[in-house]
Amino acid sequence: MTVELPSIPATIPEPGLYIVATPIGNLGDITLRALNVLQGAAVIACEDTRVTGKLLKHFGIKGRLQRLDDHAPPEVRARIIDEARGSAVALVSDAGTPLISDPGYRLVREAREADVNVVSIPGACAAVSALSIAGLPSDRFLFAGFLPAKDKARGEALAGLAKVAATLVFYETAPRLERSLRAIAELWPDREVAVARELTKMHEECRSGTATSLAAHYAAHPPKGEIVLLIGPPTEAEAPILDADALLRAALVDSGPGKAAGIVAKATGIDRATLYARALELKDE
Ligand code: SAM
Repeated sequence: MTVELPSIPATIPEPGLYIVATPIGNLGDITLRALNVLQGAAVIACEDTRVTGKLLKHFGIKGRLQRLDDHAPPEVRARIIDEARGSAVALVSDAGTPLISDPGYRLVREAREADVNVVSIPGACAAVSALSIAGLPSDRFLFAGFLPAKDKARGEALAGLAKVAATLVFYETAPRLERSLRAIAELWPDREVAVARELTKMHEECRSGTATSLAAHYAAHPPKGEIVLLIGPPTEAEAPILDADALLRAALVDSGPGKAAGIVAKATGIDRATLYARALELKDE
């Protein structure tokens, strides 16, 4: 791929900690502000010096790299924060926006506590890019990082998000995609799901459908590359049962699950057996 080099603004960045987004696959997505800060930074804190070294080399920038992840000892963060009092210091991750399922949270928190100026240099972020093309409601979304790898924990994590009235956005890996889709299909067979893969790269794709249909597709065509998994908000069919929770909870204060289910069934017209099963779950919460 050829990327035309933009001319980098030659201003010297003010002292502070700059949180710099880098491309998630297409080098053309670097911003001019990012290049300016990386060029002018006294230190560039990064996850992996080889990965960031390659990025800098591509843009002809010679930077002093300092490895930093969330397990770095506090002294390393303290040194970086100290340096940011007198010069520009950049934080980058391997790709995308630092802190978004990437290191940096402790550094930013401690820098702010130390009254160091923390500046955002926005750019690519896989979660936001996926949301922007998936065709799912984008007015409210919940980004929940990576789903757990183990089946039980994954099922529990998903069930815990059942009532969130927003599009759910997860980072996912290719080997785990199909199992995650099957777990989603069990919980929410009717919800619209989207898989955004290899965003900004040559083989970018965004495929949507039910979790069952997507699981079948990826069983037949094992996916490669990087993935964002999105789940649409609760459907109307799910909504009454969610509203019924509040009524069931209230009824459970004075009654057992059977009686509570009967009361709420009368009030809402929802099937008593469904309410009874839900009352048993709520009783154990
Ligand atoms: N901080 C990054 C960001 O702003 O997007 C995310 C870092 S996280 C460790 C890496 C995960 O992001 C990948 O496993 C994948 O789920 C997602 N991801 C990163 N680049 C992607 C791309 N080009 N297409 C789809 N998903 C991507």
